[in-house]
Amino acid sequence: MSNVNGPGARAPFDSLPEAQRASDADELDVIIVGAGPAGLTAALYLARYRRSPLVLHDGASRALRIPLTHNAPGFPDGIAGSALISRMTAHAEAYGARLEAAEVETAAFRDGVFQLNGGGRTWRSRALVLATGISLHQVDLPEAEHEAAIRAGVLRYCPICDGYEAIDRAIGVIGCNENGAAEALFLRRYSSDITLMPLSHSDLSPAQETELAAAGIRIEYGALRRLAPGESRIDVVLEDRETPLPFDVVYPALGCSPRTKLAVQLGVPLSEKGCAPPDPRSSGVEGLFVAGDVLEGLDQISVAVGNGAVAATHAHNWLREKDGQSLQCRKAAQ
Ligand SMILES: Cc1cc2nc3c(=O)[nH]c(=O)nc-3n(C[C@H](O)[C@H](O)[C@H](O)COP(=O)(O)OP(=O)(O)OC[C@H]3O[C@@H](n4cnc5c(N)ncnc54)[C@H](O)[C@@H]3O)c2cc1C
Repeated sequence: MSNVNGPGARAPFDSLPEAQRASDADELDVIIVGAGPAGLTAALYLARYRRSPLVLHDGASRALRIPLTHNAPGFPDGIAGSALISRMTAHAEAYGARLEAAEVETAAFRDGVFQLNGGGRTWRSRALVLATGISLHQVDLPEAEHEAAIRAGVLRYCPICDGYEAIDRAIGVIGCNENGAAEALFLRRYSSDITLMPLSHSDLSPAQETELAAAGIRIEYGALRRLAPGESRIDVVLEDRETPLPFDVVYPALGCSPRTKLAVQLGVPLSEKGCAPPDPRSSGVEGLFVAGDVLEGLDQISVAVGNGAVAATHAHNWLREKDGQSLQCRKAAQ
């Protein structure tokens, strides 16, 4: 039977669903890179579409670092990020998704097939979902001390996530620039005790300084020398100041880098902010779908879950279309 649907396509309905072809590991229907909320939701949906998705991940979901999230819908008492990821993993695996720990180093797209490599291994698939997240730009602390400060809640990176938990606290914001100023103003709704401090120097304009002063936000100008996190407070040592400034919580506003290495290798153009585009197929990489923080937008669990579901459904319908399993005979537009 000739294959009318192009390279990589299968004949309509002539084969068992992927879920029943466990030995066909050579070229999978779909691989997902990323086992955070976006990738695991995509895996759950694709497994329930009977696609046996393979999830590759390097163990660095940002969600694993959340001590207790209070804005994940359905968990009014909060849930630890690690517990949420365990539940989401078990949920996807229960329907047949497979997870493998591996850092994917390279990605290529040739003749309608994605080829991924990492740690001396190769994986191939017809569709690919990138849910690779972002890397935070962090303050300079030894890793163990940094993560302990996050667990203690004295060092936080996302006011949208946990500004509510900082109500009426003494809050320090690091980053005397537009980002830092915007973050300090965002937090002003939660506390009247807010101090903005530079990492190295201040880039604030006089107009921005006036605006911050009008909102009751203090500005310190000495460069950051050292952070000393404790169990319930964090001291900030600034240049030219003898005594450290004590805070209940410090928010570094230092930005992030989307993890787009694989998207770039696949030839996908990034947005001005360096994020992956929502529909990479428009740039010619057929079968590529993207979800989660790596996209431009609100970096939140609920958003990652939502567009993980969307990416999975688009990938599944695209595969159905390639395989002639979608409705061919549509009414002409009226
Ligand atoms: C301290 C902290 C607290 C937070 N609190 C909240 C909160 O309260 N509420 C909220 O909604 N959000 C919170 N967030 C943000 C939330 O964690 C993210 O929005 C969410 O994890 C995004 O999901 P994602 O799947 O897009 O990315 P991630 O969860 O970051 O997952 C990315 C995945 O991609 C994988 N990956 C990337 N590149 C490769 C590669 N080359 N090879 C293999 N694997 C790769 C990683 O291993 C990881 O599995 C918080 C984040 C942090 C750090």
